[in-house]
Parts: sequence; structure tokens; C-alpha cells
Amino acid sequence: MSLLSDKLYRYDAARNARAAGIYPYFREIQSDQDTEVVINGKTVLMFGSNAYLGLTNHPKVKEASIEAVKKYGTGMAGSRFLNGTLDIHVELEKKLAEFVGKEDAIVYSTGFNVNQGVLSCITGREDYILWDELDHASIIEGCRVSYSTKLKFRHNDMESLEKQLQKCEPDKVKLIAVDGVFSMEGDVVNLPEIIKLAKKYNASVMVDEAHSLGVLGSNYSGKGVVEQCGVTDDVELIMGTFSKSLASIGGFIAGDEIALDYLRHNSRAYIFTASATPAATAAASMALDILKAEPERVKALWDITHYALDGFRAMGCEIGHTSTPIIPLFIRDNEKTFMITKMLFEEGIFVNPVVSPAVAPNDTLIRFSLMATHTKEQVDIAFDKIGKIFKQLGVLA
Ligand code: PMP
Repeated sequence: MSLLSDKLYRYDAARNARAAGIYPYFREIQSDQDTEVVINGKTVLMFGSNAYLGLTNHPKVKEASIEAVKKYGTGMAGSRFLNGTLDIHVELEKKLAEFVGKEDAIVYSTGFNVNQGVLSCITGREDYILWDELDHASIIEGCRVSYSTKLKFRHNDMESLEKQLQKCEPDKVKLIAVDGVFSMEGDVVNLPEIIKLAKKYNASVMVDEAHSLGVLGSNYSGKGVVEQCGVTDDVELIMGTFSKSLASIGGFIAGDEIALDYLRHNSRAYIFTASATPAATAAASMALDILKAEPERVKALWDITHYALDGFRAMGCEIGHTSTPIIPLFIRDNEKTFMITKMLFEEGIFVNPVVSPAVAPNDTLIRFSLMATHTKEQVDIAFDKIGKIFKQLGVLA
């Protein structure tokens, strides 16, 4: 065994889970993606998807994607910067900027690339990034790649954020980077208070709307948490992805022209990678059109979300501070979390396990997420199976 293999072999978590028969990853979906999917030839209810508006299977979205392949081909074979810009990229950027209320937007190939490529590009050695301890891994990646001083604050804790702001030199750039809705816990960022602190300490704010675009927004607009809080002018950079409500893959950053012109010419994750495929770009664009035209989809998502939140509370499940379609069912034990995932799957319910090191060992949870297309009957089936298994394993009395 090479030294490298020897070192890598010491990672045994996956091997142990496989040996115990509770390995929950890489389950292969063999069907279209909706509230029901087929895995290993068996139909299961999908409560683990981020396709909040249920658009991945929408005929118009599929059609737009197919037409784009017919017209533009399959791959881009180049960076946006050089030979990889299509008219549909630029069109989508204009639509996104207008949708979130900013001057301009840039489409990246993934949401991960946006956070990594923006944070590392706009902050330098003299600057500061202040980040919430439960921010998404891609924000943390952006922090790692950035030469700036990184200051972590406790989750949604304004006292902790203020303490960190006080450590920064007053005349240096300070960027507060937060998730709009936290991806595992489902709680909403305390944006009004963050904006107050940002103004007090002359800091800038960037919000990741991955789980809030298509979900939050006034009058079921789906425009996101920034719009819902009425702080669009106070948030300098709005980030979003296409991999959730917009039924595709890709991401964007929106802001003023100065910031985006800088990013277009300096962001390595934008310049040194091939641009989003025609199929992905057209699908996101059509999904955005549907989101704008059909607020009733967002309303349906909230109706089923409230139904599920009420039901889990009534069952006595510990669901933390969520108020969104992401519902964490806290288990607080790695092995039990794996075991429940497996038992639920056998009962026809797909959910995602969230275990350490993604969260602290005593914060492990089952992530239950909803789509606008789920029915109450489907959620009732989940309640029934979850209640039974939680009691069996002592999670519920
Ligand atoms: N930000 C957040 C909050 C996310 O949850 C995710 C994906 N899970 C990303 C960014 C990355 O997005 P993408 O899947 O488009 O790379």
C-alpha cells in the first residue's frame, strides 16, 4: 500500500457504516424526480429533495432544456470570459438581476462556485469576512480560499457578530456572509439586525438565497429573504443557485455594476471553468419564468410546509427553530440517525441523514424537506412511519 493509500484507508466511517448495513449515501434514483421516485426498483416518497417548487419534472422546463440542446449543442467548451457566453446566459442574467432587484447579475456553473469564487475574489489580505458558524460549506470554502481575516460568529447570534465586528479595524473592508435560510436547520437569518450592525460598523453584507429563492418573498413572490425583509438596497451581494427551486444546476451573484464588473474580470471560479451548459441555462430560465408567473406554487409550498410543521410539533418531534420547508428532526446520535434513515427507506420514505462531521455529534438530525407538489396524504404517510420508528427507537416516548 502506498503511503497515500495507507493514510486514506484510515478513514473508516463509510466502511463501518457499510459493514453495519446502515450506509445511506449514493442511493440511485431510476425515475423522474418528483414527490415519488424509484430506487432499486421500489417506489418511495421523496422527502429529501431541494426542488422546493417541484419543477424538475415540469414539461415546460424539460422542453426548454431540450430545445436549447437542439439549438446550441450539449457543452460549452470554454469559459464565459472567452468562447463560452451564449445569448441565453446574458438573458438569464438580466432576468435574475431584475427579479432580485439589483443592477446586474453573473451566472456561474454552480452555486458552490459562486460562493467560493466571489468571497475569495472580493476580499484580500487587509479585509475581513464575518461568517455564521452554520453557513453552507461553499461559504466556508470561499473563506478558506480568501486571504482575508476570517471571523466566525455564533449562529444567528447578534451579540457574537457585534463582538467580532468590534475586532475589525474600522477603515478596512468587512463583509458579513450569511445563508438566508440555513440549509440543514431550516431557520431564517436575522437579516434586519444584521443590517443594523452592518450600518453601525460600516460593513457590507452578502446573502446566500439558495434555500430562500422560490420560497420566501412578499406575497409569495419567491424573490427571497432579502426582498421579504425590505433590505434589497442594504445587501450588496445576493447569491442564489439553480439547483433547488430553479430545477437545474448553476448559480448567480447579483449586485451593482461596479462589483460585478470586478468579478467578471477577476473571479477565478468564473473565469477558469467552462460556463453553464445550454440545457442547464435554459431550464433555470424557464423555471424562473414559471416562478414569476405562478405565485400559487409558492403558496402551495407554504401550505404543505405549515401542515408538516404543525404535524411534527403535535407529534412531539424536536424540530429546532425552523419555519421553512426544511424541517430538521433532531435525533442527536450518529448511529440512530443512520438506522432511522434505513428503516424509513424500507418503509418507503426517503429522507436525508445529517451526521457529524457535517454537524456536531449531538446535533445529528434527519432532514425532511418539502416540495410544492407534495400532498397532505403523502405527508400523513410520512407522519405515520416516522412516528412508529421514532417510538421504536426511543426518539419519541
Ligand atoms: N449555498 C447553500 C446554502 C447550499 O445549500 C448549497 C447547496 N446545497 C450551495 C450554496 C451550493 O449550490 P450548488 O448546489 O448550486 O452548487
